[in-house]
Amino acid sequence: MSDTIFALSSGAPPAAIALIRVSGPSAAVALSALAGRNLPSRKAVTVTLRDGQGEILDRALALWLPGPATATGDDTLELHCHGGRAVVAAVEAALAALPGLRRASAGEFTRRAFANGKIDLAEAEGLADLLGAETELQRQAAMAMAGGTFSRAIESWRDRLLYHSAAVEAVLDFADEDDVSQLPSGFVTALAALRQELDAWLGRPRAEVLRDGFKVVLAGPPNAGKSTLFNALIEEEAAITAPVAGTTRDVLTHPVAIDGVPFRFLDTAGLRDEAGDAIEAIGVERARAAVARSDLVLWLGQEGEGPAGSWEIESQIDRPGHAIKQAPRHRVSALTGQGLDALRRDLVAVARSAMPKPGDAALSQRQHRLLTEASEALASAASLVDPLLIAESLRLARVAFDALLGRTTTEDMLDALFGRFCIGK
Ligand code: GDP
Repeated sequence: MSDTIFALSSGAPPAAIALIRVSGPSAAVALSALAGRNLPSRKAVTVTLRDGQGEILDRALALWLPGPATATGDDTLELHCHGGRAVVAAVEAALAALPGLRRASAGEFTRRAFANGKIDLAEAEGLADLLGAETELQRQAAMAMAGGTFSRAIESWRDRLLYHSAAVEAVLDFADEDDVSQLPSGFVTALAALRQELDAWLGRPRAEVLRDGFKVVLAGPPNAGKSTLFNALIEEEAAITAPVAGTTRDVLTHPVAIDGVPFRFLDTAGLRDEAGDAIEAIGVERARAAVARSDLVLWLGQEGEGPAGSWEIESQIDRPGHAIKQAPRHRVSALTGQGLDALRRDLVAVARSAMPKPGDAALSQRQHRLLTEASEALASAASLVDPLLIAESLRLARVAFDALLGRTTTEDMLDALFGRFCIGK
């Protein structure tokens, strides 16, 4: 990590101001080469930037930020230049010409912050989400994650876990001596209490629902009216409807916001055992998968035959002699619009309760999986008798916590995470 990296950290030129950041051991060299002088720490100073031939490149505001009290932990120089394309290109070229300096790759400043212990992995993940946030709900959840709410919780769980592990290790060390071969009283209760805290986090709404929307699958046999209802709900003619069984060959998906709540409706091929042909069979398979991944299923088929937890929808109620369900959750006609507003209101209420509350940190899929592993390891530790096995379970829980904090990570995982950032971040 002896390279010094630089990049344009503000938006693409032309812009009013361009922020070029230089970070690493040669940042001071870059400062004296371009500005021809040293600067006091943490003071904004106007400097004249020159290239190696003494040519004036720009007059800029410079900030000299010596490490380790910087965002990356390394010496950092910030140059606030004029935001013209040619100015930025010239300053970048002058930096690239200096020994030991190179252009930063995507997310590399943040990756250095992580490598230097300035932020942990959960905070880096929150930061990535913050930069990608497009809606207010997403921004609030990302802020909470980047602010370290979840990290602080993991740290405290990890401390308590280490304390319990030490107790088990003591039992193992002194296994021969009768007086210390017992685990402390309250050991199992303490593990259960710890696990309860983890499970409370696991029970919270997930981050994906903010990004992907609340997934509602329309399911039922062919010609039940799924595509027509789908179109009515998304208020667009996105799905092809026709009075022929098996028209919807694939799963159609469409994001839509109702009352500011993000939804993703999925129209499926008919769920039935014997598909008409091979292509449709693939559609049926995908329909099953869509149902399995959904947050809610609207069931338009025979009453009681839908997947568990699905809402019974009586559709096409405008049709004379249309079969009537005994107790549908909603009666609608996609054609006349009857009952659609009530259905939408119901959907919004249910989806809202599944969204993270403003300011709550929401777990990503990866975080959810690791926390589940920790919770299961604690559960098995509490149920075991052999101290050796208990110690192993507690170790597994610690491994999961460490992975959450980024203390044990693979290069692939880091590449994937930091690759989500843009260059200059
Ligand atoms: P899918 O196979 O379940 O997707 O069913 P479609 O949405 O393609 O509908 C099958 C047929 O029923 C089409 O001819 C639709 O026009 C008709 N249909 C769907 N919904 C309604 C409705 O609410 N009222 C009436 N009258 N016809 C409907």
